[in-house]
Amino acid sequence: MDTKTAVFSGLGGETPEALFGKLPTPCYILDEKMLRRNGKILAEVAAQTGCRILLAQKAFSNYDLYPVLAPFLAGTEASGLYEARLGAEEMPGGEVHVFSAAYREDQFPELLQYADHIVFNSPSQLRRFGPRAKAAGKSVGLRINPECSTQEGHAIYDPCAPGSRLGTTRAQWDKDMDEELVELLDGIHFHTLCEQDADALDVTLQAVESKFGDIPPRMKWLNMGGGHHITRPGYQLGVLGKCIRRAMEKWHVSVYLEPGEACALNAGYLATRVLDVLQNGDTDLAIVDTSAACHMPDVIEMPYRPPLYGSGAAGEKAVTYRLGGPTCLSGDIIGDYSFDQPLVPGDLLLFGDMAIYSTCKNNTFNGMPLPAIYRRSEGGSLEMLRTFGYGDFKDRLGKKQ
Ligand SMILES: *Cc1c(COP(=O)(O)O)cnc(C)c1O
Repeated sequence: MDTKTAVFSGLGGETPEALFGKLPTPCYILDEKMLRRNGKILAEVAAQTGCRILLAQKAFSNYDLYPVLAPFLAGTEASGLYEARLGAEEMPGGEVHVFSAAYREDQFPELLQYADHIVFNSPSQLRRFGPRAKAAGKSVGLRINPECSTQEGHAIYDPCAPGSRLGTTRAQWDKDMDEELVELLDGIHFHTLCEQDADALDVTLQAVESKFGDIPPRMKWLNMGGGHHITRPGYQLGVLGKCIRRAMEKWHVSVYLEPGEACALNAGYLATRVLDVLQNGDTDLAIVDTSAACHMPDVIEMPYRPPLYGSGAAGEKAVTYRLGGPTCLSGDIIGDYSFDQPLVPGDLLLFGDMAIYSTCKNNTFNGMPLPAIYRRSEGGSLEMLRTFGYGDFKDRLGKKQ
Protein backbone atom coordinates (compact mmCIF):
# COMPACT_ATOMS: atom_id res chain seq x y z
CA MET A 1 0.00 0.00 0.00
CA ASP A 2 1.35 3.46 -0.81
CA THR A 3 1.15 6.45 1.51
CA LYS A 4 -1.74 8.01 -0.36
CA THR A 5 -3.92 4.89 -0.31
CA ALA A 6 -3.14 4.31 3.36
CA VAL A 7 -4.75 7.58 4.43
CA PHE A 8 -8.28 6.45 3.63
CA SER A 9 -7.79 2.70 3.93
CA GLY A 10 -9.88 2.79 7.12
CA LEU A 11 -12.98 3.65 5.08
CA GLY A 12 -13.01 0.18 3.55
CA GLY A 13 -14.04 1.46 0.13
CA GLU A 14 -17.19 3.25 1.32
CA THR A 15 -17.80 6.89 0.41
CA PRO A 16 -17.67 9.65 3.03
CA GLU A 17 -21.30 10.53 2.30
CA ALA A 18 -22.40 6.92 2.94
CA LEU A 19 -20.38 6.66 6.13
CA PHE A 20 -20.59 10.12 7.65
CA GLY A 21 -23.37 11.91 5.72
CA LYS A 22 -25.63 12.12 8.78
CA LEU A 23 -23.06 13.74 11.07
CA PRO A 24 -23.08 17.48 11.76
CA THR A 25 -20.18 19.33 10.18
CA PRO A 26 -17.51 20.18 10.88
CA CYS A 27 -16.62 17.11 12.93
CA TYR A 28 -13.64 14.93 13.64
CA ILE A 29 -14.11 11.18 13.43
CA LEU A 30 -11.61 9.03 15.32
CA ASP A 31 -11.20 5.58 13.82
CA GLU A 32 -10.76 2.82 16.36
CA LYS A 33 -9.83 0.22 13.77
CA MET A 34 -6.92 2.31 12.48
CA LEU A 35 -5.73 3.09 16.00
CA ARG A 36 -5.71 -0.61 16.76
CA ARG A 37 -3.84 -1.30 13.55
CA ASN A 38 -1.15 1.20 14.58
CA GLY A 39 -1.09 -0.24 18.08
CA LYS A 40 -0.45 -3.73 16.72
CA ILE A 41 2.52 -2.56 14.65
CA LEU A 42 4.00 -0.76 17.66
CA ALA A 43 3.40 -3.74 19.93
CA GLU A 44 5.17 -5.94 17.39
CA VAL A 45 8.22 -3.63 17.45
CA ALA A 46 8.21 -3.80 21.25
CA ALA A 47 7.87 -7.58 21.26
CA GLN A 48 10.63 -8.12 18.71
CA THR A 49 13.15 -5.75 20.24
CA GLY A 50 12.25 -5.59 23.92
CA CYS A 51 11.87 -1.81 23.80
CA ARG A 52 8.98 0.00 25.44
CA ILE A 53 6.73 2.36 23.51
CA LEU A 54 4.82 5.33 24.92
CA LEU A 55 2.07 7.49 23.45
CA ALA A 56 3.28 11.08 23.10
CA GLN A 57 0.07 12.79 24.12
CA LYS A 58 0.86 16.14 22.56
CA ALA A 59 0.02 14.59 19.17
CA PHE A 60 -3.10 12.75 20.28
CA SER A 61 -4.86 13.20 23.58
CA ASN A 62 -8.40 11.98 22.90
CA TYR A 63 -8.50 9.95 26.08
CA ASP A 64 -11.77 8.18 25.25
CA LEU A 65 -9.66 6.20 22.80
CA TYR A 66 -6.73 5.51 25.16
CA PRO A 67 -8.20 2.12 26.11
CA VAL A 68 -7.88 1.12 22.44
CA LEU A 69 -4.14 1.86 22.44
CA ALA A 70 -3.36 0.87 26.03
CA PRO A 71 -2.97 -2.89 25.44
CA PHE A 72 -0.23 -2.20 22.89
CA LEU A 73 1.77 0.43 24.77
CA ALA A 74 3.83 0.76 27.95
CA GLY A 75 2.28 4.08 28.90
CA THR A 76 2.22 7.76 28.01
CA GLU A 77 4.61 10.65 27.54
CA ALA A 78 3.69 14.17 28.61
CA SER A 79 4.91 17.69 27.91
CA GLY A 80 4.03 18.98 31.35
CA LEU A 81 1.70 18.76 34.31
CA TYR A 82 -1.63 18.55 32.53
CA GLU A 83 -0.65 15.89 30.04
CA ALA A 84 1.07 13.92 32.81
CA ARG A 85 -2.14 14.02 34.82
CA LEU A 86 -4.18 13.01 31.79
CA GLY A 87 -1.90 10.05 31.14
CA ALA A 88 -2.04 8.95 34.77
CA GLU A 89 -5.84 9.27 34.85
CA GLU A 90 -6.71 7.88 31.46
CA MET A 91 -4.09 5.17 30.90
CA PRO A 92 -4.02 3.80 34.42
CA GLY A 93 -1.31 1.27 35.07
CA GLY A 94 0.87 2.68 32.29
CA GLU A 95 4.17 4.43 32.84
CA VAL A 96 4.01 8.24 32.83
CA HIS A 97 7.04 9.98 31.40
CA VAL A 98 7.35 13.74 31.25
CA PHE A 99 9.70 16.10 29.49
CA SER A 100 9.43 19.85 29.73
CA ALA A 101 11.92 22.46 28.60
CA ALA A 102 11.55 24.00 32.07
CA TYR A 103 9.56 22.90 35.11
CA ARG A 104 7.87 25.32 37.48
CA GLU A 105 8.32 25.43 41.25
CA ASP A 106 4.59 25.82 41.81
CA GLN A 107 3.73 22.73 39.74
CA PHE A 108 6.55 20.39 40.60
CA PRO A 109 5.07 18.79 43.75
CA GLU A 110 1.87 17.94 41.88
CA LEU A 111 3.82 16.64 38.90
CA LEU A 112 5.53 14.17 41.22
CA GLN A 113 2.11 12.67 41.95
CA TYR A 114 1.57 11.70 38.33
CA ALA A 115 4.90 11.10 36.62
CA ASP A 116 7.27 8.21 37.24
CA HIS A 117 9.98 9.24 34.75
CA ILE A 118 11.01 12.89 34.76
CA VAL A 119 13.29 14.19 32.04
CA PHE A 120 15.08 17.51 32.48
CA ASN A 121 16.28 19.76 29.71
CA SER A 122 19.38 21.27 31.29
CA PRO A 123 21.93 20.72 34.03
CA SER A 124 20.49 23.67 35.96
CA GLN A 125 16.95 22.21 35.91
CA LEU A 126 18.41 18.87 36.95
CA ARG A 127 20.27 20.56 39.80
CA ARG A 128 17.16 22.39 40.98
CA PHE A 129 14.56 19.62 40.74
CA GLY A 130 16.49 16.37 40.32
CA PRO A 131 17.14 15.69 44.04
CA ARG A 132 13.43 16.15 44.83
CA ALA A 133 12.41 13.83 41.99
CA LYS A 134 14.93 11.26 43.19
CA ALA A 135 13.79 11.53 46.80
CA ALA A 136 10.22 10.90 45.59
CA GLY A 137 11.41 7.66 44.01
CA LYS A 138 11.26 8.86 40.40
CA SER A 139 13.42 7.74 37.52
CA VAL A 140 15.40 10.80 36.44
CA GLY A 141 16.63 11.63 32.97
CA LEU A 142 18.34 14.41 31.04
CA ARG A 143 17.55 15.34 27.46
CA ILE A 144 20.68 15.63 25.38
CA ASN A 145 21.05 17.46 22.09
CA PRO A 146 23.27 15.44 19.75
CA GLU A 147 23.40 18.46 17.40
CA CYS A 148 22.63 16.26 14.45
CA SER A 149 19.95 17.63 12.10
CA THR A 150 18.51 14.93 9.88
CA GLN A 151 15.53 16.82 8.51
CA GLU A 152 15.18 19.48 5.90
CA GLY A 153 12.37 21.90 5.46
CA HIS A 154 10.66 21.87 8.83
CA ALA A 155 12.97 24.09 10.88
CA ILE A 156 10.35 24.64 13.57
CA TYR A 157 10.33 20.88 14.12
CA ASP A 158 14.12 20.53 14.30
CA PRO A 159 15.33 20.42 17.90
CA CYS A 160 18.90 20.24 16.57
CA ALA A 161 18.71 23.52 14.66
CA PRO A 162 21.50 25.96 15.60
CA GLY A 163 20.67 27.78 18.82
CA SER A 164 17.91 25.33 19.78
CA ARG A 165 16.80 25.47 23.41
CA LEU A 166 15.91 21.77 23.42
CA GLY A 167 18.37 19.43 25.04
CA THR A 168 21.79 19.71 26.64
CA THR A 169 24.65 20.00 24.17
CA ARG A 170 27.94 18.29 24.90
CA ALA A 171 29.59 21.67 25.50
CA GLN A 172 26.97 22.53 28.10
CA TRP A 173 27.31 19.08 29.64
CA ASP A 174 31.09 19.49 29.95
CA LYS A 175 30.67 22.93 31.46
CA ASP A 176 27.90 22.22 33.97
CA MET A 177 27.61 18.53 34.79
CA ASP A 178 29.49 17.33 37.84
CA GLU A 179 29.71 13.83 39.30
CA GLU A 180 26.93 14.52 41.81
CA LEU A 181 24.56 15.50 38.99
CA VAL A 182 25.48 12.54 36.81
CA GLU A 183 24.72 10.27 39.75
CA LEU A 184 21.17 11.59 39.84
CA LEU A 185 20.60 10.27 36.35
CA ASP A 186 18.89 6.99 35.49
CA GLY A 187 18.51 7.75 31.83
CA ILE A 188 19.26 9.85 28.79
CA HIS A 189 16.67 11.18 26.38
CA PHE A 190 16.96 12.52 22.87
CA HIS A 191 14.23 13.67 20.51
CA THR A 192 15.41 14.93 17.15
CA LEU A 193 13.15 13.44 14.48
CA CYS A 194 9.88 14.45 12.82
CA GLU A 195 7.95 12.09 10.51
CA GLN A 196 11.20 10.28 9.74
CA ASP A 197 12.31 6.81 8.81
CA ALA A 198 14.77 4.65 10.74
CA ASP A 199 17.78 5.66 8.63
CA ALA A 200 17.57 9.09 10.28
CA LEU A 201 17.51 7.39 13.68
CA ASP A 202 20.57 5.42 12.70
CA VAL A 203 22.44 8.64 11.82
CA THR A 204 21.28 10.26 15.06
CA LEU A 205 22.35 7.29 17.13
CA GLN A 206 25.83 7.52 15.63
CA ALA A 207 25.96 11.19 16.65
CA VAL A 208 24.85 10.24 20.16
CA GLU A 209 27.57 7.61 20.25
CA SER A 210 30.32 9.93 19.08
CA LYS A 211 29.31 12.92 21.24
CA PHE A 212 27.89 11.25 24.35
CA GLY A 213 29.14 7.66 24.03
CA ASP A 214 30.64 7.66 27.53
CA ILE A 215 27.28 8.41 29.19
CA PRO A 216 24.77 5.65 28.27
CA PRO A 217 26.88 2.83 29.80
CA ARG A 218 26.27 4.52 33.15
CA MET A 219 22.47 4.67 32.55
CA LYS A 220 19.54 2.32 33.02
CA TRP A 221 17.56 3.57 30.06
CA LEU A 222 17.78 5.47 26.81
CA ASN A 223 14.71 7.25 25.45
CA MET A 224 14.90 7.80 21.68
CA GLY A 225 12.03 10.31 21.63
CA GLY A 226 9.36 10.56 18.95
CA GLY A 227 9.20 11.43 15.27
CA HIS A 228 9.57 7.78 14.25
CA HIS A 229 6.99 7.31 11.48
CA ILE A 230 6.77 3.63 12.33
CA THR A 231 3.23 2.91 11.14
CA ARG A 232 3.48 4.44 7.67
CA PRO A 233 3.75 2.14 4.64
CA GLY A 234 7.34 1.22 3.82
CA TYR A 235 8.85 2.30 7.14
CA GLN A 236 12.13 0.43 7.67
CA LEU A 237 11.18 -1.68 10.66
CA GLY A 238 14.33 -3.78 10.26
CA VAL A 239 16.60 -0.74 10.58
CA LEU A 240 14.66 0.44 13.63
CA GLY A 241 15.09 -2.98 15.23
CA LYS A 242 18.83 -2.91 14.56
CA CYS A 243 19.18 0.56 16.12
CA ILE A 244 17.31 -0.50 19.24
CA ARG A 245 19.25 -3.75 19.63
CA ARG A 246 22.55 -2.03 19.03
CA ALA A 247 21.88 0.43 21.88
CA MET A 248 20.69 -2.34 24.18
CA GLU A 249 23.66 -4.59 23.52
CA LYS A 250 26.32 -1.93 23.51
CA TRP A 251 25.18 0.01 26.55
CA HIS A 252 23.03 -2.48 28.48
CA VAL A 253 20.17 0.00 28.69
CA SER A 254 16.46 -0.47 28.25
CA VAL A 255 15.11 1.54 25.35
CA TYR A 256 12.01 3.72 25.14
CA LEU A 257 10.36 5.21 22.07
CA GLU A 258 7.65 7.85 22.43
CA PRO A 259 5.98 8.39 19.07
CA GLY A 260 2.90 10.59 18.82
CA GLU A 261 2.07 10.62 15.13
CA ALA A 262 2.79 6.94 14.61
CA CYS A 263 0.25 6.00 17.30
CA ALA A 264 -2.63 7.78 15.63
CA LEU A 265 -1.46 8.00 12.00
CA ASN A 266 -4.39 7.93 9.56
CA ALA A 267 -6.75 7.22 12.45
CA GLY A 268 -8.95 10.27 12.08
CA TYR A 269 -10.91 12.35 9.60
CA LEU A 270 -12.27 15.85 9.51
CA ALA A 271 -15.62 16.08 7.76
CA THR A 272 -16.68 19.44 6.37
CA ARG A 273 -19.27 20.77 3.94
CA VAL A 274 -18.92 23.36 1.22
CA LEU A 275 -20.62 26.63 2.15
CA ASP A 276 -19.97 28.65 -0.99
CA VAL A 277 -18.04 28.77 -4.24
CA LEU A 278 -16.73 31.90 -5.92
CA GLN A 279 -14.06 33.13 -8.29
CA ASN A 280 -11.22 35.61 -8.20
CA GLY A 281 -9.65 35.98 -11.64
CA ASP A 282 -8.54 32.52 -12.73
CA THR A 283 -8.87 31.10 -9.26
CA ASP A 284 -11.92 29.05 -8.31
CA LEU A 285 -12.51 29.20 -4.60
CA ALA A 286 -14.60 27.17 -2.21
CA ILE A 287 -15.37 28.14 1.36
CA VAL A 288 -15.89 25.17 3.66
CA ASP A 289 -17.24 25.06 7.21
CA THR A 290 -13.90 24.13 8.72
CA SER A 291 -10.83 26.32 9.08
CA ALA A 292 -7.17 25.53 8.60
CA ALA A 293 -6.22 28.13 11.20
CA CYS A 294 -8.68 26.84 13.81
CA HIS A 295 -9.14 23.13 13.19
CA MET A 296 -5.95 21.93 11.50
CA PRO A 297 -3.38 24.55 12.55
CA ASP A 298 -0.42 22.47 11.39
CA VAL A 299 -1.56 23.06 7.81
CA ILE A 300 -0.43 26.64 8.29
CA GLU A 301 2.29 26.16 10.89
CA MET A 302 4.16 23.28 9.36
CA PRO A 303 2.97 23.93 6.59
CA TYR A 304 1.45 20.98 4.73
CA ARG A 305 -1.43 20.14 2.42
CA PRO A 306 -3.78 17.69 4.11
CA PRO A 307 -5.03 14.68 2.14
CA LEU A 308 -8.61 15.06 0.89
CA TYR A 309 -10.77 12.10 -0.11
CA GLY A 310 -11.42 11.74 -3.85
CA SER A 311 -9.37 14.78 -4.83
CA GLY A 312 -6.30 15.28 -6.97
CA ALA A 313 -3.46 17.77 -7.11
CA ALA A 314 -4.24 21.16 -8.64
CA GLY A 315 -4.97 20.66 -12.35
CA GLU A 316 -5.01 16.87 -12.13
CA LYS A 317 -8.79 16.43 -12.30
CA ALA A 318 -11.43 18.40 -14.21
CA VAL A 319 -11.93 21.31 -11.84
CA THR A 320 -9.52 22.88 -9.36
CA TYR A 321 -10.46 24.86 -6.27
CA ARG A 322 -8.59 26.67 -3.57
CA LEU A 323 -10.26 25.56 -0.34
CA GLY A 324 -10.41 27.96 2.56
CA GLY A 325 -12.20 28.52 5.84
CA PRO A 326 -14.95 31.01 6.70
CA THR A 327 -12.65 33.13 8.91
CA CYS A 328 -11.37 36.60 8.07
CA LEU A 329 -7.75 35.42 7.89
CA SER A 330 -6.49 35.72 4.30
CA GLY A 331 -4.11 32.86 4.92
CA ASP A 332 -6.82 30.52 6.19
CA ILE A 333 -6.23 28.33 3.15
CA ILE A 334 -6.31 24.56 3.30
CA GLY A 335 -4.83 24.06 -0.16
CA ASP A 336 -5.51 23.67 -3.87
CA TYR A 337 -7.37 20.50 -4.86
CA SER A 338 -8.98 19.21 -8.03
CA PHE A 339 -12.20 17.25 -8.41
CA ASP A 340 -14.09 15.33 -11.12
CA GLN A 341 -17.21 17.47 -10.64
CA PRO A 342 -17.69 21.14 -9.81
CA LEU A 343 -18.26 21.71 -6.09
CA VAL A 344 -21.64 22.96 -4.94
CA PRO A 345 -22.71 24.19 -1.52
CA GLY A 346 -23.58 21.24 0.69
CA ASP A 347 -20.97 18.86 -0.75
CA LEU A 348 -19.29 16.75 1.92
CA LEU A 349 -15.48 16.77 1.92
CA LEU A 350 -13.36 14.49 4.07
CA PHE A 351 -9.81 15.32 5.13
CA GLY A 352 -7.61 12.43 6.20
CA ASP A 353 -4.96 11.86 8.85
CA MET A 354 -6.77 14.24 11.16
CA ALA A 355 -6.40 12.47 14.50
CA ILE A 356 -2.97 13.96 15.13
CA TYR A 357 -2.10 17.52 16.12
CA SER A 358 -5.70 18.56 15.47
CA THR A 359 -8.21 18.05 18.31
CA CYS A 360 -5.50 18.81 20.86
CA LYS A 361 -4.37 21.93 19.03
CA ASN A 362 -7.53 23.57 17.73
CA ASN A 363 -8.86 26.95 18.77
CA THR A 364 -11.86 29.26 18.44
CA PHE A 365 -10.18 32.19 16.66
CA ASN A 366 -12.81 34.33 14.92
CA GLY A 367 -15.42 32.73 17.17
CA MET A 368 -15.22 29.60 15.04
CA PRO A 369 -17.09 26.67 16.59
CA LEU A 370 -14.98 23.68 17.56
CA PRO A 371 -15.79 20.56 15.52
CA ALA A 372 -17.69 17.82 17.34
CA ILE A 373 -15.73 14.64 18.02
CA TYR A 374 -17.05 11.22 17.03
CA ARG A 375 -15.70 7.77 17.60
CA ARG A 376 -16.01 5.15 14.87
CA SER A 377 -15.97 1.72 16.44
CA GLU A 378 -14.28 -1.35 15.01
CA GLY A 379 -17.67 -2.44 13.66
CA GLY A 380 -18.29 0.96 12.04
CA SER A 381 -20.87 2.42 14.43
CA LEU A 382 -20.52 6.09 15.25
CA GLU A 383 -20.61 7.46 18.78
CA MET A 384 -20.67 11.14 19.58
CA LEU A 385 -18.01 11.90 22.20
CA ARG A 386 -18.30 15.66 22.41
CA THR A 387 -20.08 18.58 20.86
CA PHE A 388 -19.12 22.18 21.46
CA GLY A 389 -21.02 25.41 21.46
CA TYR A 390 -20.93 29.10 22.17
CA GLY A 391 -20.00 28.42 25.81
CA ASP A 392 -16.71 26.81 24.80
CA PHE A 393 -15.78 29.98 22.95
CA LYS A 394 -16.88 32.38 25.67
CA ASP A 395 -15.77 30.48 28.78
CA ARG A 396 -12.06 31.05 28.44
CA LEU A 397 -12.28 34.71 27.53
CA GLY A 398 -13.52 36.26 30.72
CA LYS A 399 -15.57 36.18 33.85
CA LYS A 400 -17.82 33.17 34.16
CA GLN A 401 -21.46 34.24 33.89
C1 LIG B 1 6.80 15.92 19.83
C2 LIG B 1 7.49 14.99 20.73
C3 LIG B 1 7.22 13.61 20.63
C4 LIG B 1 6.28 13.03 19.60
O1 LIG B 1 6.64 13.35 18.31
P1 LIG B 1 5.89 12.74 17.03
O2 LIG B 1 6.51 13.46 15.90
O3 LIG B 1 4.44 13.06 17.17
O4 LIG B 1 6.14 11.29 17.03
C5 LIG B 1 7.88 12.78 21.52
N1 LIG B 1 8.74 13.26 22.44
C6 LIG B 1 9.01 14.58 22.57
C7 LIG B 1 9.96 15.05 23.61
C8 LIG B 1 8.39 15.48 21.72
O5 LIG B 1 8.66 16.79 21.83
